[in-house]
Amino acid sequence: MADPDVSTQSGGYDVELFVDPPDYDLICTICQGVLRCPVRSACHHIFCKKCILQWLKRQETCPCCRKPVNPNLIFVMFKLSKSIGRMKIKCKNEIRGCSDSFALSEQYCHSMSCQYELVPCRYRGCRAQLLRRDLDTHARHCEHWREPCHMGCGTILTHHTQAQHNCYKQLRQEYEARQQNHRTIAAALQRKMKRMQCTMAHMRRQIRLICESLEVMDDLHEVEEEDLGESSGSSSGTTPSNSSNS
Ligand SMILES: [Zn+2]
Ligand SMILES: [Zn+2]
Ligand SMILES: [Zn+2]
Ligand SMILES: [Zn+2]
Ligand SMILES: [Zn+2]
Repeated sequence: MADPDVSTQSGGYDVELFVDPPDYDLICTICQGVLRCPVRSACHHIFCKKCILQWLKRQETCPCCRKPVNPNLIFVMFKLSKSIGRMKIKCKNEIRGCSDSFALSEQYCHSMSCQYELVPCRYRGCRAQLLRRDLDTHARHCEHWREPCHMGCGTILTHHTQAQHNCYKQLRQEYEARQQNHRTIAAALQRKMKRMQCTMAHMRRQIRLICESLEVMDDLHEVEEEDLGESSGSSSGTTPSNSSNS
């Protein structure tokens, strides 16, 4: 009775995943999968929440009995959801070699540690996708492999540089490079200091010249004042003698 357009795999769990074939009443009529987040309508029919909400967008009738269904009157069945979560399933990587089985609710946990899960290589720039159990083997040859030296010298090694790497040599090279750099900085500072000393000597000379010319001007001024004083003294001395004479 289900509409083929709506019964997409986005709904319930794949029946094939379960270790024991699931009961008929645990199957969603819309998607034919095992109920994922089961909800019950007022007419007591049960569907995956996603499936029935999608269905009701097109027609507000039950896909099983065709009675009208109010989208606000569907109820999540928590107990049923929990008991479905306890059902045993096989790993989705069974085809790649995983033979584990576990409760449906532990599926995510298992996929995070499943040795047959396809995962990307962890080294930046590498596009390889491998089974988790092959990661270490791949890492031994991966050209994007980058790890800091395990002796703690701080050098990032590649497979190519790892063979010739010598912590002592590396550290000495870095030390010498740093020393060379410091020598360059010191020489530049010394040159700068010499230039500043030249400028200061020049300024000192100029200040001395200014002071000397000021002194010369003061001397001239004094001489002028003396000349003026003498001439006025002699004239005042002569005037009264002249008047007494007459
Ligand atoms: Zn469904
Ligand atoms: Zn119904
Ligand atoms: Zn597995
Ligand atoms: Zn890689
Ligand atoms: Zn090292």
